[in-house]
Amino acid sequence: MGQTKWTMKISTWLSQQTKPVKWGLAGLLSMTLLLGVVSGVLANTPCEIKVDGQVVAVAANKRMAEVVVNQLTEQQRQQLNQVTLVQKVSFERTTDRPVQVLPEAKLRQILAEKLTFETTAVGIQVAGEVKVVVADKQTATQVLDKLKQTYQVDPDYRVSFQENVALVDLPVLSDKVLTGDAALKKLLGQGEGPRLYTVKEGDTLWDIAIAFDVSPEEVEKANPGFTPETMQIGQKIKVLGALEPMISVVATTEKTVTEDYEAPQQVKKNPNLPYGTSRVIQAGEQGRKEVTYQIVAVNGLENERKVLQKKILKEAKPQIIERSSQVMVASRGISRPAGAISSAYGSRWGRQHQGIDIARSYGTAIEAAGAGKVIRAGWFGGYGLCVEINHGNGVVTRYAHMSSVGVKVGQTVQRGQFIGKVGSTGRSTGPHLHFEKLVNGVPKNPTA
Ligand SMILES: [Zn+2]
Repeated sequence: MGQTKWTMKISTWLSQQTKPVKWGLAGLLSMTLLLGVVSGVLANTPCEIKVDGQVVAVAANKRMAEVVVNQLTEQQRQQLNQVTLVQKVSFERTTDRPVQVLPEAKLRQILAEKLTFETTAVGIQVAGEVKVVVADKQTATQVLDKLKQTYQVDPDYRVSFQENVALVDLPVLSDKVLTGDAALKKLLGQGEGPRLYTVKEGDTLWDIAIAFDVSPEEVEKANPGFTPETMQIGQKIKVLGALEPMISVVATTEKTVTEDYEAPQQVKKNPNLPYGTSRVIQAGEQGRKEVTYQIVAVNGLENERKVLQKKILKEAKPQIIERSSQVMVASRGISRPAGAISSAYGSRWGRQHQGIDIARSYGTAIEAAGAGKVIRAGWFGGYGLCVEINHGNGVVTRYAHMSSVGVKVGQTVQRGQFIGKVGSTGRSTGPHLHFEKLVNGVPKNPTA
């Protein structure tokens, strides 16, 4: 539309100008001269660029305006197939003076912002919802392959997606199309924006930081004005760098390991023993067994371990103790769960170990270290399946990497009560019980 207007204007103008000119050598000469002047004048006439009828910029001349628009369109074509300009762009010589003529670089910047292009691209659809859009099918396939490789810890793992993942052709604005790398990052939940965590009873800044593998300082930085002292239950705080992944990559493998195990302690009542005393009548002895597990990890975190096969190499002998039959006064104390400590409290691999690791076989019962109220019972970041018990007086105990949770939030438990089973969920390298004792939110040595 702008094009025809422009042409018409010039031709009318030319015809008006040429009417009085007589043909002849002088005429031809002056005609040539005139044309030269005219084209010179036109070439240097400021040109308005209209996007959908609205003037967005004025170029020094029409040629420059066209060149910039063509270059921007060409740029899009190089990255995407089949690009169409969404808006109507027209050029119009401006007679208004003075005008603000923009230099070419500024012109390009403004037009790059104003012009939108549409293209046909490929969306990666997860459970019926398009999560990211890339240029073509080949890029999409590469992104999905890389995503699987990310969580294929070793070649033994079979990898698949938990959700239904499909590729769909769809028309989109070109700025919605991501590069393969950007799409992969987004699907992995990396970068782009924080994840929100809702503060639960008993949470401290440290807990949240450790659970999401960031430092407490990073949490504070991500939440301006936030102070750990004023943290409240239900408050939403931002945790950077650990977004929820958009696709769950399921990696499955079978693994055979030999591990020590203990037989459950046997307690016999002996009314003849003095009040509150006990004695060992058979020392326990560790057994050894060969176990084949099926391990299922979702996005790199183990969340299920099934025993496929079990062979006892050496039978464990239970410790048998005799206890006085008198009922003991319920102890208010905390005693750490029994079992050998495979990793002590304190410094480990260059970072602080907030608790102790207790060697226990997969699936063995975990008992409450003391009486109290359950304040957490479920998945907690790198802790995997986790239970926390508030014992009052600021004392909380934490049990992590469980394979199953046997209590509910709000439930009161007694010392020794079953609260769940040993597992390897979350950031864990094998079945064990990770136990922490927190006093006013600060981890303390549970064995001290
Ligand atoms: Zn641990």
